[in-house]
Amino acid sequence: MDAIIKGDIEQIKKSIDTEAFREKSVLVSGGSGFLGSWICDVLSEVGSKIICLDNLSTGVFENVDHLKGTKGFEFEKADVCSYSRNPRVDMIFHLASRPAPEDYQKHPVETALANSEGTKQMLELARKHDARVLFASSSEAYGDPEVFPTPESYEGRVNPLGPRSCYEEGKRFGEALCKAYHDQYEIDVKIARIFNSYGPRLRAEGFYGRVVSRFILQSLKGEDLTVFGDGLQTRSFCYVTDTVTGLLAQMGNEARSDVLNLGSEDETRIIDLAGKVIQLSPAGSGLKHLPFPPGDHLRRQPDITNARKVLGWEPKVGLDQGLSRTAKWFGKKRDQ
Ligand code: UDP
Repeated sequence: MDAIIKGDIEQIKKSIDTEAFREKSVLVSGGSGFLGSWICDVLSEVGSKIICLDNLSTGVFENVDHLKGTKGFEFEKADVCSYSRNPRVDMIFHLASRPAPEDYQKHPVETALANSEGTKQMLELARKHDARVLFASSSEAYGDPEVFPTPESYEGRVNPLGPRSCYEEGKRFGEALCKAYHDQYEIDVKIARIFNSYGPRLRAEGFYGRVVSRFILQSLKGEDLTVFGDGLQTRSFCYVTDTVTGLLAQMGNEARSDVLNLGSEDETRIIDLAGKVIQLSPAGSGLKHLPFPPGDHLRRQPDITNARKVLGWEPKVGLDQGLSRTAKWFGKKRDQ
C-alpha cells in the first residue's frame, strides 16, 4: 500500500474502536470506490472478514488490488441492485452509487436504482442475518437548503425533476427505506449524510472527477483550473481520514439507529479552493471560467453538533493540510 495512505490508515485506526470490527463479517458495497476502499483497508487491518462488492462502474479495482489474497478479503464483481448471494454478514456499509454529478447525470436510472433497489437488496440481506446497515447518504439529500449550517432536522428543498434528482431523490428514498426497515423489521440502520469528502483515490478524470481532485490533476498538468461560474459557490471539504473515521465510528456505535451529518464545518468558496491548489503547484496554472452547471448548488455547510454529541467525532485535518497530502499523493501517482 502507498505510504501516504498507509500513514493515514494508522491515524484512522488510532481514532476508532477497532474491537467493534474484529472478526466481524462486513460487506462493503461500492468497496472499490473512494470511501469504500478506505473502509476496506481499515477493516482489513483490524481483522474483519470483508466482502468488497462493486460493479466497477466508477470504482476502480486498483484501489483494492493490494488486498487481493490477504486473509479474510473477498472481491465480488456484482451489481448491488441484483445481488442474489446470501453470505452471513454482521455489518453492511452501503456506499454503491455513482457520486460525481456530471457522471450520474449521464446514468440517472442506474444512480436512482443503486440508491433505491440497491438499498433494498442490502436491507434484505441485513434482515436475513440481523446485520447492522450504514447507508451512505449525502448532503445532496438537502437539495438547495436555506439554513446554514444545515442540521439533520432540516427537511430539504429538492426538485424531484431537477438535473440532480436521480441522486438527490435516490438518497432521500434510500433513507426512507432504511427508516421503513427499521420501523417495520427493527433493522439497526445508520444513515450518514456525507459532505464533500476528498483525498487520495478520489477520482479526478473526466466526468468522474470531483472538484478537489480535478483541480489538483489540472494543476499537475499545468492546465488552467476549470471554475464553474464565478466560483463563489461553496462547499465544506472534509479530508478522507476524518470522513472514514466518522463512518466507522457511526457503524461501531451500539447505542441506536441514527442519522448524522459527517463533514467539515469550514465553508470554502470554489474560487478560493482554486487559489489554494494553484499555490501548491509549481506549474503556474491559471483559471478558466466555465458556465455554472444547471442544478449545481450554491452552498453546503453541515451542522455537526449531533455527530460531536453521539460519536465524539469532529474533523481534525484542516483544508491546507489535507490538500497538501492529496496533491502529494496525486503527484507521486503521476510519477509512477
Ligand atoms: N466545480 C468547479 N469546477 C470543476 C468541478 C466542480 O467549479 O471542474 C464546482 C461545482 O460547480 C460545485 C463544486 O465545485 O459547485 C463541487 O463540485 P463536485 O463535483 O466536487 O461535487 P458536488 O458537491 O457538486 O456534488
